[in-house]
Amino acid sequence: MEKKDLLYEGKAKKLYQTTEENVILAEYMDQATALNGQKKDTVLGKGAMNNQITSLVFEKLKAAGVPSHFIRKISKTEQLIEKVEIIPLEVVVRNYAAGSFSKRLGIEEGTPLAFPIVEFYYKDDQLNDPFINDSHVLVLNIANNEEIHQIKSLALKVNEILSAWFKTLDIQLIDFKIEIGRTKEGNLLLADEISPDTCRLWDNTTHEHLDKDIYRRDLGDLIPVYQEVLRRIQNEQNKK
Ligand code: UDP
Repeated sequence: MEKKDLLYEGKAKKLYQTTEENVILAEYMDQATALNGQKKDTVLGKGAMNNQITSLVFEKLKAAGVPSHFIRKISKTEQLIEKVEIIPLEVVVRNYAAGSFSKRLGIEEGTPLAFPIVEFYYKDDQLNDPFINDSHVLVLNIANNEEIHQIKSLALKVNEILSAWFKTLDIQLIDFKIEIGRTKEGNLLLADEISPDTCRLWDNTTHEHLDKDIYRRDLGDLIPVYQEVLRRIQNEQNKK
């Protein structure tokens, strides 16, 4: 299968058409961004690290029965994915207070929530990805009622699988963001990536940040921290 035209260039990924109509090649770049792109740096090795981690996460989810766009990793920085229309929502699941939730509601970071919360943000850089509710999703024609229900169930299922898995790696899954794709047939699939760029991962014992907050908050080098997450995943896999 050959790489053809560049279809889309995002903040940290490039998407190429392939010779197969329904297959996209995603290339992970050595780019770190935060604050809606206002903070931007080249971080050598980050593309390969995120491609590796997100591929392992999607394989884990696939094995647990979560439908996704992921096909397979084909090189250090590249993977093949199914072509979908991305629904313009950032779907955030929270198990503990952190980040914007803590700021908005004045709840200390790390406070456990009584049950997982699912939130929607409207994916629009110019509007700064505003927080919206189910009615906004309907009125803006982003998704219908049945799809909203499916998106929430999918998000909670991903949360259940990943929270339990990360726990075995001595990691607390504080919160994360997923994106959902719609196939030509109208089916919903988990899409985009799941990596330390899109999750808050805290060491269970020390509560050290093992995620992009290292970069967002200038807490140190991102690569050794992402490497640590990968090391724990690989260790667990080698035990089998
Ligand atoms: N997140 C993301 N992309 C975004 C915004 C948030 O991947 O554009 C992830 C973020 O890494 C965290 C979760 O979604 O795991 C919740 O982020 P929050 O709303 O607290 O926003 P932040 O504090 O990152 O601005």
